[in-house]
Amino acid sequence: MMVGMSPTMRRLAANLLRLMLGLGVVASSGASKAAPPAKPRDVIIESIGWRDVGLVVQANAPLDPQIFTLEKPFRFVVDLPAVELADANMAHAIPVNAGHVTQVRMARKPDGSVRLVVDCDQPTKLQVMQLGGRATLVIGRAEETNAALANLFQKGGSYTGAGQEIKKLWARESNGKVTLELQAAKPLTYQLFEEDPAHMQVKIPAGRYVGFLPLPGKCLAGAKVRTTPEGTWLLDTSLADANYQLTQALSKDRTRLTLTWTHQDPHRFAGRPLVLIDAGHGGADPGALGPAGGLEKAACLGMAHALQHALWKHNLNAMLTRGADAELYLEPRLHMIDQVKADLFISLHANSHTAPDSNGTVTFYRETGSKPFAEAIQRAVTSLAHRPDRGVKQERLYVLRNPHVPSVLLETGFISNPTEERLLASSPFQAQVAEAIVAGVERYVAANQGTRLGLARPLSSSP
Ligand SMILES: [Zn+2]
Repeated sequence: MMVGMSPTMRRLAANLLRLMLGLGVVASSGASKAAPPAKPRDVIIESIGWRDVGLVVQANAPLDPQIFTLEKPFRFVVDLPAVELADANMAHAIPVNAGHVTQVRMARKPDGSVRLVVDCDQPTKLQVMQLGGRATLVIGRAEETNAALANLFQKGGSYTGAGQEIKKLWARESNGKVTLELQAAKPLTYQLFEEDPAHMQVKIPAGRYVGFLPLPGKCLAGAKVRTTPEGTWLLDTSLADANYQLTQALSKDRTRLTLTWTHQDPHRFAGRPLVLIDAGHGGADPGALGPAGGLEKAACLGMAHALQHALWKHNLNAMLTRGADAELYLEPRLHMIDQVKADLFISLHANSHTAPDSNGTVTFYRETGSKPFAEAIQRAVTSLAHRPDRGVKQERLYVLRNPHVPSVLLETGFISNPTEERLLASSPFQAQVAEAIVAGVERYVAANQGTRLGLARPLSSSP
């Protein structure tokens, strides 16, 4: 999961800025709702990658690194206790070749911790720095790290086209559909962030708006505007319930953003199973990056829409965790399984490896009860969509932790492989894979009709 440079760098720079200003930890979601009570957050590692500053580990909450070194050969070891993984493909070794650092390896330990081993060809002085905000750990050589971070801060501090004037903002509702339009004076730079499917945020750096806000209606429960201390303009929207699916469109000249929420009945085909489809990454988190610039988040979203349509065509219920290019943390994705009472959960990702010829399909499961579902999906995609078979694998992936609902994470192909990068972005291929997944779902459902799947909840189609 090689996260693309700029958003990560920007996030890093923003975190550093907070650190420099002495503001300490700043909640990055800008969530307007009260935080859920007491229970400590699960710490999820979102990405691990080598940058010019060193090894950068991004998590959703502060990490608790335990550091030691081993000799002959020299290894710098960082243990991160009790963490979950956001993505399976970060488990690969990262070849480095920077100074005396030759590679970084990652290992899962049975106690749930992750061990990072930095291999060096001679004893090397390394340091670990923890930055604020969404917990960024930088492991690098002291002098280089400090210089690179300062440089990064310089680069990340400004936006192009500072001052984005929003001329018009309006909303309309009809038949369970909300359309929100935003007209800017110049081409827009913006990001979408979903706290959950009912609460979305439009973030416009250096945005300005003077005018009326859309009035609450039957579907749109509220719209609020505020500006952060960094000058980012935020529009918070809340919908009447969580059963809205968001899509977005940007005009050709990039000045008009149209957001459309369509109300969905999760059980439109009564008595038929509901598949919750999760498009990996999104918004500020692009996921892995292909050699031609393809983004994992876009491939996942295309595949998710194709799969939803294919499921509907076969009279199966389907919902998306995200229908637009919006950032959505992992907790709400997992939470949605219970919210919508999904029967099956499929998270869509693309794989990535430093070896460009790595190819093929792999399906991950976490709970043993999900293994037959993983096997059904893997078999269908490899045979019907003719993909090289890398098998099913068990991994402690955060989104797969629901013990009651068969849950899998499918990596259809490698976005790091030029041929598969092209395939992943092509609509005919997405449709072909979607049809294959549906066949796998149908076969699995038929085989488990009326049974309890060895899990806690029966399929909704069973009596
Ligand atoms: Zn991914």
